[in-house]
Order: sequence, then structure tokens, then C-alpha cells
Amino acid sequence: MTNAKQLVYSAFYRTGLFRWFGRKRNGAILMLHSVVAAHPAREFHPNRQFMMTKEVFEELLDSFESFGYEFVTLDDVVDRLRTDRMDGKFVCLTFDDGYRDNLEIAWPICAKRGIPMAVYVTTGIVDRTEPAWWYGLEEWIATRERIVCNLSGRLDVVQTTSLAEKEAAYDSIAIRLQRARPTERKAFYEDVLAREGIDFAGYSDAVAMTWDELRTLASEPLVTIGAHSISHCALSRLPHAEMRHEIAGSRSMLERQLQMPIQHFAFPYGDPSTVGTREFSACRKLGFTTATTTRHSMLSSIDVHGLHQLPRIPTDPFESRQTLAVKLSGLPGRFKQLRDRLRGSAPAESLKTNADTTG
Ligand SMILES: [Zn+2]
Repeated sequence: MTNAKQLVYSAFYRTGLFRWFGRKRNGAILMLHSVVAAHPAREFHPNRQFMMTKEVFEELLDSFESFGYEFVTLDDVVDRLRTDRMDGKFVCLTFDDGYRDNLEIAWPICAKRGIPMAVYVTTGIVDRTEPAWWYGLEEWIATRERIVCNLSGRLDVVQTTSLAEKEAAYDSIAIRLQRARPTERKAFYEDVLAREGIDFAGYSDAVAMTWDELRTLASEPLVTIGAHSISHCALSRLPHAEMRHEIAGSRSMLERQLQMPIQHFAFPYGDPSTVGTREFSACRKLGFTTATTTRHSMLSSIDVHGLHQLPRIPTDPFESRQTLAVKLSGLPGRFKQLRDRLRGSAPAESLKTNADTTG
């Protein structure tokens, strides 16, 4: 979080404005990724922002309990929206992508407390046909002082000596990879493997569940499995048939592998530059009960009319309890909307620099 943002959050907290504003905003879908034993020590580690240590995760759950939140499933969220029962405080935990630590670390913590969780699975990563490229990209840049990037027909030589250079290179290439077509990304992985010996495919094995592991997690009654596309690409940038295949294909593979109906979907990245009305409509027509975005907002009664574009509150492994309390009031999202309106711009979120915006 930037210093300016921290100052704004702090002002919202100290003035008590968040408490007044949040008095009627009670429900949230929370977005998480990895829960890890510890963060790697190295300084350049852009994926750190998606990794919460298990201690911080437990503290997060403690905070929600102390704020008076009830932990609910995605189906409960839908039920509350449809029956307009939005009065109590409730939160639904969702984890994106299908990391192995969701089974090994997050789930035992949730199970012990009786807390439900949902996991949105990118099927290509579990199937090992798609790499968790954000880890490969990090490793490549971390271990080189200069890289040659050949992506989408463009050849760039990038200096990656200092930490600032590495971070800038990561951000720039990650955004281009997010926007690239699956075929362009595949050519990129093959090129880096051939020239540099970095095997992007190996990172799926290192960090993501196998089908057997996913079946173990899916068999838990408190766990909901949702789909999260096949290749984790920016769906709005694909032709219609490819976009539909990414959504429907990930569901059918999960249903085949897990032998259970899959009712929920999360859009990869999930911000307005990667998903829009065409994708919301596709999920509705394909019969999903819900689809979630990375629009940062608390739930409200009106969301019953937009079950295929539900908002989620992102988690930050380094944020304070005060920041979380302000975030849950819905005030920062409203503030941002007003600021965008005053500036005369559309309320779009910027495309963030990793696998997910997270998402
Ligand atoms: Zn994701």
C-alpha cells in the first residue's frame, strides 16, 4: 500500500468515519491466494503479495471473529442475497488458482475452526498443461542481470541488475503475459526454456494441487470448488468461442475429475480491463450460480441482480487490523468511485501486475 493510501485509510479510521459508513455494509466475499509457512527471504519476491503466512491468516480469522462476522459458503451468500437477509455480518473466504498450500495449510486451520472455504481452480495448472508462469517469471528475473524477452512478436533486452530494475521488468512482462493469447504465452515459455533453461511448466508441479489432492480437498463438506478458467488468461481479450471454452471447459474438466457439479466461477484477474458484460452474460447463460470479479466492494442487496459479477474484497498479507476494518466498511471503494467521477473517468481498476489482481 502506498503512503498516500495509508494516510487516507488512517484518516478514515481515526475520524471514525469508517464505522458510520460501514454500519449497513455487512457482507463480503474475501479473496485470498496462498497461505504459506513462511515467506522466502530474498528481497526480490513480487509474488509475496499473494502469500499470507499462516500466522497472519489466523490473525485475519481472529479479526473477523472479533468484528462479529459469521463465516459462510458461496451458496449461503446467494441465499442471503435472494432472500434479502443482509442484516448480519458475514464473510465468505475464497482462494484463487488451486495452490497446494490451500489443502496443506489453509484448510486444516479452517477445519479446526469449522470455517467454510471456496477454492477457484485454474484447471490447466492442476492438469499441468499450463504453467504457474508468475513463479517462473520471478525466478528468471531473480537469477539474471539481463534478460532477452521474446513475447507476442516483440523482442526486448531488459536490464535486471538492481532490485528496482527487476521489479520494473517483472511488472512490465507480467502485464504483457496476462494480455497475451494462450498460443503466444506457450511460445514464450518454450523460448525461455530453450535459451535460458527456465522451465515454466515445472512451477505448476511445485505450487499447485494435483487432481488427487484436489479430490481430497473437494471431499470436505465445508469446501466448495469453483472454476477459474483453463489457462488463466484475460477473457475479454479472447474471441467469443475461445472465451466460452475457457469458462465451460474448466467447469466440465472439474466436473469430470471431481464427479460433482460446479456452480461457481471466478474471472481471472477480474478487473474491468479483463472482464465485462460479455463474460458476465456467458457465465449466466452457461448456468453458473455465481461469478466473482475483483471489483473491490462489500456486498449489497442490489448484487442479487448481478450474481455473475459479484465483488470481492482483496486481502493483503501485510495490512494492519485497522486497515482491514476500514476496508470492510466499504468506504475506500466508495471514495475511489467519487474520485473517479470527479476526475471524469470511468471507475476502472488498473490491471495489476500478477496472476490475479489479484484474482
Ligand atoms: Zn487467479
